[in-house]
Amino acid sequence: MNLDLDSGRLAIFISGLLFFIVLESLLPAREWQDSRSHRIFFHGSVAVFNTVLIRVFIYVPFLLWVVYIEQQGWGISRWLGLNGWLEIMLSLIMLDAFDYFWHRANHRIPFLWRFHKAHHADNEMDVTTALRFHPGELVLSSVAKALWVLVWGPTSIAWFLFEGLISVCAQFHHSNIDLPDRVERYFSRFIVTPRFHTSHHVVDRKYGDANFSTIFSFWDPLFRTYNQVPRDAKGQLPEDSIGLPEARELTLSFKAWFTEPFSRRNMGVPKP
Ligand SMILES: [Zn+2]
Repeated sequence: MNLDLDSGRLAIFISGLLFFIVLESLLPAREWQDSRSHRIFFHGSVAVFNTVLIRVFIYVPFLLWVVYIEQQGWGISRWLGLNGWLEIMLSLIMLDAFDYFWHRANHRIPFLWRFHKAHHADNEMDVTTALRFHPGELVLSSVAKALWVLVWGPTSIAWFLFEGLISVCAQFHHSNIDLPDRVERYFSRFIVTPRFHTSHHVVDRKYGDANFSTIFSFWDPLFRTYNQVPRDAKGQLPEDSIGLPEARELTLSFKAWFTEPFSRRNMGVPKP
């Protein structure tokens, strides 16, 4: 049962990835600069590397941890006696709130930024950008999230739905697509859209250190971290506006991606 949930998550992840790769091919928002197949290969290898490295040691124990907490009846949600759809909705919001504050901490705390920077060092953005996380960040965030799960106490079904939703939402808002203006205005009030999140990946830290939300977009306006980069008359971003200038040549280097967090010349934290 537990491992079924884990395989289910993998199936959602792969289907979402394929769906957005096809959608980006049909309706790309920006021209690709690097070879697209190279990007898919590089980020695909990163994902396989991460999965092999941490699935057994982190994801499976995490799932067992969620089930254990539920069986013990620990956490605020259990003490409040929440159940059914109310519990699922509130758990989605509370787990998403954790990700908002954790993401903010990743940009503010130099030690965490060392690892999170690997994600932002991409010169472009498409659905494969959602794969390029450093295993160090995945380990650190799992430990922090395990504590939050203990505090809140989601049911394992709520946790499973959250994980599925977050994986599809991350693929959606990283993908190289752009919604029509009216649809964008409507949806970005509730969920993080590609335009909302592209702004978070621009070079200018005024925008890069804003828009931290992951699933629901209201966290940023609520905690005053919303800042959307202006676009030109055609609705496009200026050239070379995505990524980190200091990592331009290293975007698709596996060695740089893996070793940068441990290097002495680490660029430190951008000023919030
Ligand atoms: Zn970020």
